[in-house]
Order: sequence, then structure tokens, then C-alpha cells
Amino acid sequence: MAQNMKDQQWLQITKLLADIKDKSPFYSQKFAAIDPRDVHDLKDFQALPLTDKDDLRDAYPLKLAAVPTSEIVRIHSSSGTTGTPVIIPYTAQDVMDWAIMFKRCYEYAGVTKDDIIHITPGYGLWTAGIGFQAGAELLGAMAIPMGPGNTDKQLQMMIDLGSTVLGATSSYALLLAETIAERGLADQIKLRRGVIGSERWGEKMRNRIAHELGVELYDIYGLTEIYGPGIGINCEYQSAMHCWDDYIYCEIVNPDTGEVVDDGVSGELVITTLRKEGAPLIRYRTRDLTRIVVGDCPCGSTHTRIEALIGRSDDMVKVKGVNIFPAHIEEALAITDHASSEYQVMIDHMYGRDIMTVFFETAATKEIRADVETTLRRNIKDKLGLSVIAKAVDLGDLPRSEKKTRRVFDNRY
Ligand code: ZN
Repeated sequence: MAQNMKDQQWLQITKLLADIKDKSPFYSQKFAAIDPRDVHDLKDFQALPLTDKDDLRDAYPLKLAAVPTSEIVRIHSSSGTTGTPVIIPYTAQDVMDWAIMFKRCYEYAGVTKDDIIHITPGYGLWTAGIGFQAGAELLGAMAIPMGPGNTDKQLQMMIDLGSTVLGATSSYALLLAETIAERGLADQIKLRRGVIGSERWGEKMRNRIAHELGVELYDIYGLTEIYGPGIGINCEYQSAMHCWDDYIYCEIVNPDTGEVVDDGVSGELVITTLRKEGAPLIRYRTRDLTRIVVGDCPCGSTHTRIEALIGRSDDMVKVKGVNIFPAHIEEALAITDHASSEYQVMIDHMYGRDIMTVFFETAATKEIRADVETTLRRNIKDKLGLSVIAKAVDLGDLPRSEKKTRRVFDNRY
């Protein structure tokens, strides 16, 4: 079996394809002209059409279900900002499988049953909070189901109950870290690890959160369409994330052509669920850009590794013919002294041309701000070959979000 496909995964995929059209009205329709039982090798599998989020929207409300409604114990809905939501049905086994995967994530992060896990992601239709919760309970740790918001109460509970693990998005972890530093509460906080939800974030932001909270950080990966957070996490050795090969099969494709690229080459992550009953997905486009890391991890785990996300294929903006990802701006910020991790990009069309402005936070004094702006402008020019306007603002001036922070605003259209 070529690439990263394991024998066991192939067996599960064969089993999945054998009756997917009988079970799933969605795939019965999508594969109308295909007999998935004709898939005999990896090449055949790689020729199956990709499934994307728009397909799932068309299946609203419950056409994704591959089991009778009586077998569905819960639904979640993905957090689309516009249009028809995507509804993902879960069976009891799916809910259990997700908890098992999340428990494994905690274990990779060195979290044990003795820990007190402070959970700040939202509960409800969103998969984040309940994923952290179910994994914590299966592990036998104490879960504090805070949900987002009310920073005063968060900090009070964190101090009074002695929370040792923080579950959060990177932007909310940063907000908490800044508030703790501002109020001088660091010596009352007992956090030792942060399990940070799947958002692409720069090294500089990561270092700030780790330093100000005094914790080791772990990136947890997942998306509502494929269970939720908990399908992968980085181990103690590097930023790459192990994804659970016994539950999902990962491929990387060229986002423009949909063709599978070699291991080690960057592209869009595509996932096939191996055991999901409620809403199995075959070759689902995550829109997350990453690459499969080749070779063995020193931790000994053989679960496939993907590199920290470099962006989402729909985050890419084209300015003056240059493809720009948020990661590029973060890399430029990382090598600019006095620039913090927080930034916002505005792209406007004025006077007949595109103008890109990068607002960034800094603690630098007024006297040296112009120099910091010049340095950042030069670093972006070196990296992207693009002239931008760099504008320094005070720390805390740019918005922090409890969910994912939007950083790039394209005002041209
Ligand atoms: Zn490892």
C-alpha cells in the first residue's frame, strides 16, 4: 500500500465502501454514477470524487444520516457564518469513539485523571466544549464546564478550584493570559498545560501564551464534520500533530486540482472517516492546509503526523498577483522586534490599485514605532515581494475573540 495508508485502514475503507450507497442517501446520490465496490486499490480510491462543505449543506437537514433516525443520539452543527448550516448526526458509538479519541489527546498532552480541566470553548451546537468535556470524563479528570465569556468568573474559578489544564481557542487563551498578567494573578494560577483548539496560530502568539500562563501548549485538531476537536494532537516532541489512524484516513491534495500530492508536500487535508456510523464521510475536504510529515516521531507513536496548519484554502487572498496566507504575515511579525503576535490585515482598492495595510500591536514607545513599522514593512517585502502599509497600535487595541479571530478583511469587493 503506497504512501501513508495502513493495511488496517484499507480494510476499513473497503468495508465502508461496500454498503455506503445502501446506507447513506447522501452518497447514494453523490455516487449515482459510481459503484464504490469497484474500488480495488489506492489508485481507484484516489479517483473517487471529493466531498466538500457545499455538498453537506445540500444534505440539510438529515440526508447525511447513514442510520435510521432512531439510532441517532445527538446532532451537532458546524459554525458557518452564512447560508444553510451543516448538520452532523452521531450514533451512541460515534459519541463514544469521539470521547475515546479525545481521551487519547489528553494522554498525549500528559493530562491525567488527577488534573482539573478548565473548559472555555462553547457548548451547544458547536462541537468544541462537549468534546473537551466527554474526553475529560472518560479520562476520569475533573471537568469545569465554563464555556466562553465572563473573564472575571473564569479567573475566580481557576484560582479557587486550582485548574491545572486550560482548554481554549488560541485567541481566548491569549485574552486570559493577558488579563492574568495585567492583574498580577500569575502566582495564584496553577495551570500547567494548555490544550488549544484547532486554529492556525503563529509561533509568537504561542510563545506569549506559554510564557504568560506558564504552561506547555498542545494543539488539538478537529472539525465538526469529522467528530469535532480531538481527532489529532501534537505530542511533546514538535509542532506536528498525530492524527488517529484507527478512526480517520488522511490525504493531502492539491487544492486547485484535487489531485493527491506526495507525503511531505503541502496542500489541503482530506479526511475519510473509517468508523463513523451517523455520517460517514469519504474524502472530505477540510480546507485546512498542511502537509504529512514523513518519517518516525521520536515519541514512538506511528499515528500519521500532519504539520501545524499553515492556513485555510479559503483564507488565501491574492494581492497584486501574490498569494498571501495569514501564516506569511505571522512569520514576518515573528522576526520583527517589538511587534506582538496580534495583527489585522485590511485590503482595499483605492486610487485604482490594491492597498494592503497590516495593523499590529506593539508595546513599543511612540519614539520607536516608526522604526518598528519600517522593519515590518521590509520583512513583509522580503518575504512576499509586496509593498504594504504597516501601522502600529497599542497592545489590546485589536479585537480578541472567544471563537476564531478573523484577521484578514478583504474590502475590495
Ligand atoms: Zn510524536
